[in-house]
Amino acid sequence: MTNPLLQDWATPFQIAPFDAISDGDFAPALDTALAEHRSEIEAIASAAEPPSFANTIEALEAAGTDLDKVLSVFFTVAGADSNPMREDLQRQFSPKLAAHFSEISSNKALFSRVNALWETRKTLGLGPEQDRVLMLTHRGFMRAGAALTGTEDARMKEIKARLAVLGTEFTQNLLADERAWFMPLAEADLEGLPEFVVDTARAAGTEKDADGPVVTLSRSLIVPFLQFSPRRDLRKTAFEAWAARGANGGQTDNRAIAAEILSLREERAKLLGYASFADFKLETEMAKTPAAVRDLLMSVWEPARAQADADAARLAEMMREDGVNDELAPWDWRYYAEKRRAAEHDLDEAELKPYFQLDRMIAASFACAERLFGLQFKPLDIPLYHPDCRAWEVTRNGEHVAVFIGDYFARGSKRSGAWCSAMRAQAKFPKPQAPIVINVCNFAKGEPALLSYDDARTLFHEFGHALHQMLSNVTYESISGTSVARDFVELPSQLYEHWLDVPEVLSEFAVHAETGAPIPSDMLQKVLDASTFDMGFQTVEYVASALVDLAFHEGPAPADPMEKQRAVLDGIGMPPAITMRHATPHFAHVFAGDGYSSGYYSYMWSEVMDADAFAAFEEAGGAFDPERASALERHILSTGGSSDAAELYIAFRGRLPGVDALLKGRGLAAE
Ligand SMILES: [Zn+2]
Repeated sequence: MTNPLLQDWATPFQIAPFDAISDGDFAPALDTALAEHRSEIEAIASAAEPPSFANTIEALEAAGTDLDKVLSVFFTVAGADSNPMREDLQRQFSPKLAAHFSEISSNKALFSRVNALWETRKTLGLGPEQDRVLMLTHRGFMRAGAALTGTEDARMKEIKARLAVLGTEFTQNLLADERAWFMPLAEADLEGLPEFVVDTARAAGTEKDADGPVVTLSRSLIVPFLQFSPRRDLRKTAFEAWAARGANGGQTDNRAIAAEILSLREERAKLLGYASFADFKLETEMAKTPAAVRDLLMSVWEPARAQADADAARLAEMMREDGVNDELAPWDWRYYAEKRRAAEHDLDEAELKPYFQLDRMIAASFACAERLFGLQFKPLDIPLYHPDCRAWEVTRNGEHVAVFIGDYFARGSKRSGAWCSAMRAQAKFPKPQAPIVINVCNFAKGEPALLSYDDARTLFHEFGHALHQMLSNVTYESISGTSVARDFVELPSQLYEHWLDVPEVLSEFAVHAETGAPIPSDMLQKVLDASTFDMGFQTVEYVASALVDLAFHEGPAPADPMEKQRAVLDGIGMPPAITMRHATPHFAHVFAGDGYSSGYYSYMWSEVMDADAFAAFEEAGGAFDPERASALERHILSTGGSSDAAELYIAFRGRLPGVDALLKGRGLAAE
């Protein structure tokens, strides 16, 4: 019996033979690949020869080839085209994989070899990229606690296990609260709601077995309800329920869990020798220190709050014109902001849509990559995992660069959102491998398929990630492509979004599906103006959340996180009609797992860079300035994690990013 996942793939560009793989192949292939990887690791850890870069670090890089193959195919189909069997497999695989990788990072024999290399690194004659990979490998072990012994080692294991349990409980409590609450609406309560909100409310009612339409706490229903419902009493009830998620007392209350998580994180950081959990988390980031994060957030906070205060005054005036004599409250903001948006930016989505055809937008993203980096895209006819997938061979000067796969349409088997992943990452060691990169989106199908402007931005965003993978030019896979700091990884993607807004790109590619006429310039201007609408509010709710996240992890863990949250918000002068985007009891980014803990700032950090980096093109002579394009590839798109992110940015820009371009882009710059 031969498992197709474990064969050498004799397909064009060694793409996985999707037509030969069946779901029954995954579990046995994973077990074989895990066992193989385990024995490779054992061989490295127990080698008789003294440790060398080749027999330890390079051997680790080369290990796990089959595991990579199995997981890349599995996670591609599990995310983009799932079914009950794949969901079941995913549930089986995740604890197995977690145990496997934690076994490696706590392998003392392996660590002592890596550590011996680290201590003698000056004498090893390593090149800069090798030096970097050694540093990252060693740091990974240290951060996982591999150097701890005795009771400290045991305590670290306890802390990690407890944190995993608490993270899951936090998520489940939040889901339970979100599912439990709904508010029935009488037919009269639907007045003033647009059809799509009414439809969503009716569908939600059916799902909840209610007699009629309901409002639930799902973001896609509650947000439009708050935007459109003229009934202030209903908005207040719905908003208060939404704000109370995770803080309703009883079994599903998250407040004590948040406190315990923060205290365990602090203990974990201290065991590893860091002053605080924020210092521990930020060590691997471009920002590096809590102070740098605070500086960034505060330099955006003041102008954002000033804008929000001015907007609040205008909205309160509109409310009084409506005959409501009260202070503007959080349940009023979205409603009056929507009224104002309709009055000031009467953008008709239906009128706009025919100008954003999916195929033309794909062509636009390719055309920009050709002008900037000389890449060419030729359609490939190969079997993939779903008939909606399309593939292209990417070449430059006739040489193969990558395979790019686009899976653009929404379907029930695909998880929501949009993402980019490498089915195979670029590397030169142990042998050259060209990347296979996939963009997955959730656009509506149609003849022709039409996008909203936001969809078109998403397409450019994910393609920016794809370029980061496809143009990668490093030796070792562990630092290839998007394997960079979290607060740096969104730079290429968010930066690429700027090319969608370049007037010559839009006039060539945003053409009417029926008439072929380019988008009228006044319509285009409305689109661009609308993108800065209500930015005071959006920036304030985001920055407030990021500052609370930072404060939670910076000093000693607060005994009462809610008290700490209050103190932070008072300290910065939070406008009374705006709340945190995610308050503590439902701040899943921070408490559901470790991903964004003391890292919620990173969305804005990346935005500061993308605005500043695009300004470099504008300053140099335009969006397609060849010297800037080549510098972008040389210093950022090709370099992966081979250098510190700040050094890469300075190499591209000549300095670190400033916030001016961001404030201008968000419409928050002082006049
Ligand atoms: Zn992204």
